[in-house]
Amino acid sequence: MTPAAAAPDAGAERLRRLRSRLDEEGVDAILISDGENRRYLSGFVGTAGYLLITKDAAVLATDSRYTEQAGRQAPGYRVDRVTGRLDWLPGLAAEFGLERLAFEADDITVHTLDRIRAAFADSPNGPGPELTPTTGITLGLRALKEPAEVEALQRAVDIADAAFESVSGTIRPGDTEAEVAWRIELAVREQGAESLSFDTIVGSGPNAALPHHRAAERAIQEGEPIVIDMGARFDGYCSDLTRTVVVGRSDGQFQKVYDTVLGAQLTAIESVTSGMTGREADRLARAVIEEAGFGELFGHSLGHGVGLEVHEAPSVAATSEGKLEDGMVFTIEPGVYIPGWGGVRIEDVVILENGRARVLSKAPKIGA
Ligand code: ZN
Ligand code: ZN
Repeated sequence: MTPAAAAPDAGAERLRRLRSRLDEEGVDAILISDGENRRYLSGFVGTAGYLLITKDAAVLATDSRYTEQAGRQAPGYRVDRVTGRLDWLPGLAAEFGLERLAFEADDITVHTLDRIRAAFADSPNGPGPELTPTTGITLGLRALKEPAEVEALQRAVDIADAAFESVSGTIRPGDTEAEVAWRIELAVREQGAESLSFDTIVGSGPNAALPHHRAAERAIQEGEPIVIDMGARFDGYCSDLTRTVVVGRSDGQFQKVYDTVLGAQLTAIESVTSGMTGREADRLARAVIEEAGFGELFGHSLGHGVGLEVHEAPSVAATSEGKLEDGMVFTIEPGVYIPGWGGVRIEDVVILENGRARVLSKAPKIGA
C-alpha cells in the first residue's frame, strides 16, 4: 500500500502542500512524530519512526524492525535505520543545514523534547537549529480529503451502516448492553472492517444520558432509549455512526426528545455551507434544541472531522472559528441527555461538496 488510500502521486502532492505550510511558518524543516501524520505523509504504516521533511529532502528514520517495510511503503523517502534514541537527529540537521526545525508540540512528550535538546547539546555539530513548536500543520492538510480518501471513508461508513442494520432488529428486552455491543462488533468485522474505530457504545435507559458510556452488564428494558455509537475502520479510515432506538413502545418524553434531536440534525445537514465557521454550523442545530427548551441538555459539540482518526480536524463546535471548506468530512451529531431518564443522539458523517453537505451515512433513523 502506498500512502493510505492514495493515488500513486498523492504522496508527492501531500509533501508539496506540507512544504508550502512550512514556508508560511518560517521553518526549514519539520520533525513528524505523530503516527497518523507519519502514515499520511509517507504511506508507512509501521508503529515507530520519525519523518524529517526539509524543503527538498524527505527522510524516514526507523529502527531495524521496520526498515524493509518502510522502504516498500514509502518510496518517496530515504529510509535511515536508527536506534530508538534521538541521537541521530543532530547529524541530519547538520547534513541539511537546518536553522529552524519545527516539531509537533501536540504529540511530542516533554521527555522526548528533553532528549532532543540533550542530543543537540551533546552533538559535535554545534548547538543545532532553533526548535519551533507547531500544532495542527499536517492535521490541517488531512482535513481536506482526496477522492481516494473519500472512497475509503465511504467504505468505512457503509460497513458500519450494514452492521447496525443487521443487529438493530435483533435487540430484545433482557439483552445486556455488552451483548448488543459484541454482536455489533462481530458484524463490523464480518462486513470487512480491519478493526473498530473505537469501543462500541451501547447505553440504555439512564445510561443513555451519559454521552460516552461504553457498554455494561445492564439489561435493556422495553420502551427505553438505547443510544448506539459505533464505527468501522477500513484501509486506515474511520467511520462514526450513532442511532437511538427503542425496543417496544416508547414513552411520550422519547417522542418529543427524539423529534427535537432529529429536527436539529436535519436542519444542520440542510443548512450547513462551505465558508461557515464550526461555531456557525454548531449554532444551526443548537438553536433548534434551545427552541424546544432542551438547550441546557445538549452539552457537547455538534461534530468533528473523521479520517485516519475518529476525531480530527475540523472541529464543529461552539468554540471553533475555523472555516468549513469543500472536501472536509465531519460528523453532525446533536444530542439531548436527561439525567435519570436517558438520552437521544443521532450522528451521520457528511462531506462538503459544492458548498453543501452530502450525507455519507445511510443507516435508517426512526421516523425519517
Ligand atoms: Zn460517534
Ligand atoms: Zn462522533
